[in-house]
Amino acid sequence: MSVIEDVKQRTDIVGVVSQYVALKKAGRNLSGLCPFHSERHPSFFVYPEQQSWHCFGCNTGGDVLSFVMKKENLDFGEALRLLAEKAGVTIPSRAPRGEEKEAKERLYKANETAAQFFHNLLLNSSEGEKARGYLASRGLSAKTVADFQLGFSLNSWDSLKQYLLERGYTEDELVRAGLVVEAENGRTHDRFRNKLMFPILDIKGRVIGFGARVLDDSLPKYVNSPQTPLFDKSASLYGINLAAPSIRQQDVAVIVEGYMDVITAHQSGFSNVVASMGTSVTERQVSTLKKLTRNMILALDADAAGEEAMLRGISYENILEAEVRVVILPEGKDPDNVIREDAKSWPQLIAQAVPIMDYTFNMVAAKLDLTQARDKSLAVERLLPVIADMKDTVRQAHYLQKLASLVRVDVRTIEAKLGEMRRRESKRQAQAPRPEAPAQAARPLMSNRREEYCLALLLRYPELKSVEVNLRPEYFSSSENREIFTAWMQTDDLSALKEKLDISIQEHLDSLLNWNLPPNHIEPKFIDCALNLEKEYWKNWEARKAEALALEAEAKGAGADLAKLEEEGIAPALRLKEIYTQGRQRRPEPRR
Ligand SMILES: [Zn+2]
Repeated sequence: MSVIEDVKQRTDIVGVVSQYVALKKAGRNLSGLCPFHSERHPSFFVYPEQQSWHCFGCNTGGDVLSFVMKKENLDFGEALRLLAEKAGVTIPSRAPRGEEKEAKERLYKANETAAQFFHNLLLNSSEGEKARGYLASRGLSAKTVADFQLGFSLNSWDSLKQYLLERGYTEDELVRAGLVVEAENGRTHDRFRNKLMFPILDIKGRVIGFGARVLDDSLPKYVNSPQTPLFDKSASLYGINLAAPSIRQQDVAVIVEGYMDVITAHQSGFSNVVASMGTSVTERQVSTLKKLTRNMILALDADAAGEEAMLRGISYENILEAEVRVVILPEGKDPDNVIREDAKSWPQLIAQAVPIMDYTFNMVAAKLDLTQARDKSLAVERLLPVIADMKDTVRQAHYLQKLASLVRVDVRTIEAKLGEMRRRESKRQAQAPRPEAPAQAARPLMSNRREEYCLALLLRYPELKSVEVNLRPEYFSSSENREIFTAWMQTDDLSALKEKLDISIQEHLDSLLNWNLPPNHIEPKFIDCALNLEKEYWKNWEARKAEALALEAEAKGAGADLAKLEEEGIAPALRLKEIYTQGRQRRPEPRR
């Protein structure tokens, strides 16, 4: 349980609000004169079951945290600390913003110092001989070794640790930077030992982490820095610091898999190459590249290519709003081999890059006998869902056409099939609108999964921020979600967001970032989710209003006040109607 949930569970909203407002029983709930606007007749309600409050006069509401924030004029962290103190919960203390930044700065410095330490050992130590021999066998020049700041880590448990401690870094800082590992007995030791070191730099040229390769046949061949405040593998691209100018200038980026692929390519003058540092490219990496170019070529080995193209190709295209091309490497070779054998073959290979959709078509067709009816159906079954995910309708039409001619049936048949598929899908969604389960198991009952799902989507796919939906902070019932939503809409990237948010929210933010999200149909899913959130808000509003009016009538005091409440009720009721209509219109129609 996060500290926020802990505090909420130990705090009763009725007790907190009663300190400011004289509450009277109103059915299952309580009401009183609103502390935020002046009134003679209570339109302020507290709902103990939901641990929430709402004022129909000023149309505000939320949970206990938002009440304290508003009443005491505090920010989220301050309000949380106030309630935590009363509830006896300890909150990690908040370092002032400047200090946080400074702390991060020190981690960058520690990494940079480590990179220099490793680099120096590679160039000058007798222990580095084997590593130097390895690089020579790979044909790397001294300039390349220097450009990439390659290094060597000693076969020692604490040489880097001692070196950095002597320079004033604390053990805790070294653990946070991922340079040192804390063992179970609480003792620490160097993470990287007896390895060839590849510093990983961000686009600004700061060392954010390391890749390390063994110099013998032991496994695993590579280890990387863990996730740290500076390093997130799934959002980083190896070589981006050196490749960015060329990518911009040539307006195309080539993505390969490994460190050596990038290094060899750059040494041979192909400097628009970066590595994903893993078999599959992530959408966050694609988003990073999009700032430099919309044109992306994936250099894939024959084994991995099929899956990558099938599963993720279209989502990359949707992010880039452009076609993604693929190059399939000769069997059993990686770009490093290809370029070292014959550098001239690389540009030729790149020139043969094919649109990822065409490749997917060929791959599917190659395994089928398209003179057979059964195999025709199979081809449609496999390819149509991929085509359905395309955002660009013109390209979609092109590939529907292509699929029709591949299986030699009329394009209208394929289109009808697409319509059918979409109807099934939307029906399935309507029947089971439950979002995917979060990666971590235990979730407290209090949390609101729908709003968290919506937020998780928005955080993972920042491009959704520009989708036109009527999403407002108040639709998020829990303050921590409201807080993250508001801050996210005002920031560009995750690190800026983290800087903006109170430290007590980070844990919650991390859990949102770890949600298992669907790989495709992102935008419609997000729109649905946002619409549902809004609908839920107004439905709740209406139910509560009806309840208040019923009580009012019972207590006879109706008259002018009742009329006033009803008048206020009109706008939300209209909006609710609008949402329902919109929901109906949005249901995809079969194409004609
Ligand atoms: Zn009010």
